[in-house]
Amino acid sequence: MTDLLTATTASTVSDAPNASPATSDAHIATPLTDARAQLAEAISLLGYGDGLHRMLATPRRELTVAVPLRMDDGSQRLYTGYRVQHNFSRGPAKGGLRYAPNVDLDEVRALAMWMTWKCALLDVPYGGAKGGIAIDPREHSTAELERVTRRYTSEILPIIGPERDIPAPDIGTDEQTMAWIMDTYSVNSGYTVPGIVTGKPISLGGSQGRASATSRGVTHIALAALRHAGLDPARSTAAVQGFGKVGADAARFLAEAGVRVTAVSDQYGAVHRSGGLDIEALADHARATGSVVGFAGGEALDGAALLMQDVDLLVPAAVEGVLHDGNAGDVLARVIVEGANGPTTPAADRILRERGVLVVPDILANAGGVIVSYFEWVQANQAYWWRADEVESRLEERMLSAWQHVLGYAEARDLSLRTAATALAVERVAEAHRLRGLYP
Ligand code: GLU
Repeated sequence: MTDLLTATTASTVSDAPNASPATSDAHIATPLTDARAQLAEAISLLGYGDGLHRMLATPRRELTVAVPLRMDDGSQRLYTGYRVQHNFSRGPAKGGLRYAPNVDLDEVRALAMWMTWKCALLDVPYGGAKGGIAIDPREHSTAELERVTRRYTSEILPIIGPERDIPAPDIGTDEQTMAWIMDTYSVNSGYTVPGIVTGKPISLGGSQGRASATSRGVTHIALAALRHAGLDPARSTAAVQGFGKVGADAARFLAEAGVRVTAVSDQYGAVHRSGGLDIEALADHARATGSVVGFAGGEALDGAALLMQDVDLLVPAAVEGVLHDGNAGDVLARVIVEGANGPTTPAADRILRERGVLVVPDILANAGGVIVSYFEWVQANQAYWWRADEVESRLEERMLSAWQHVLGYAEARDLSLRTAATALAVERVAEAHRLRGLYP
């Protein structure tokens, strides 16, 4: 099987484990330098040596594939796809598949590393992975997206599987994408393999509650974090950056919990209403027009101003690196709950901590998605389905117990929640390495 793989050798990380965390974001800050700086901090806190550090800073396996696409008009295009398996010491690799024009190998590596920590922190029996294609899905028809998905799947087929690596949705992909991956994998296997992906349509073995799981988890954590900061959610205000898979439902659930959501943005712009936006009406508008921009129930706001709103809670739920050393000093929110992966750079983390802003890190705050992915995989493997209320109560229990665990660890050691969460996760992965031993 190994011979079939055209895996690129893991690129050198000679600059990574020994490098001290950057003190400024001014130079080449990328999601990967951020992820490695966070790892370096956890490693030094835990007192682990260089050998383990190097191993955890380096993906175990990475595959870069050319993905040719026949367009509807008969012309041909070529895209580049990736699948990075950062770690599988605690179980199969697990993580989403992203379609976005700026996807590159370093971004996928960072996202895969964060998946390892997320799964370890929430104690779901997986390692971390991520995939991506550098493609703008908005420029393609459904038929083209189906062909590109099936070709990408067939290219990464040798390294995925329900016990090897299980993709899920991420930015630019959805349950239809997962259905095509499941079908392509199953046709090649000769039988139906529902455990190959999570985030599938419910009629194909998806789980109740998976589609909104990340947002539900974000909401559970946001309410707990507000209370911890001494704020009553029913008297609190929030701004949500991103109105996609995570942000839209997070805004809705927060509003349902009584939080006044005063500002929401997407990649095209933002809207604001100090009395609170009607999130249901905003969602209808966004469904009809493709954007929150132009919503009649609020005033237009500059997209960049969303992060600087005078609110109690800020939920960045879009992409990496949006809070950096150039704007973290202007954040007015008391609590930040990361719906996106990697929205806050290490330099921004330091600034926010000095200013007393409570930052709940991605690997804790947005873990609801992979928790219910795990529930979906368990259900699919057993061919036995849980009710929505069972899924939701188990999700809440896991999120809140992880929150307590991270909070207790951070308070006992005077750490930021991110450092505490990363250290707890790294410790679990290191323990698995230690118990399994180094082969040969
Ligand atoms: N893409 C999601 C994340 O970043 C979900 C991953 C999964 O369910 O495997 O956590």
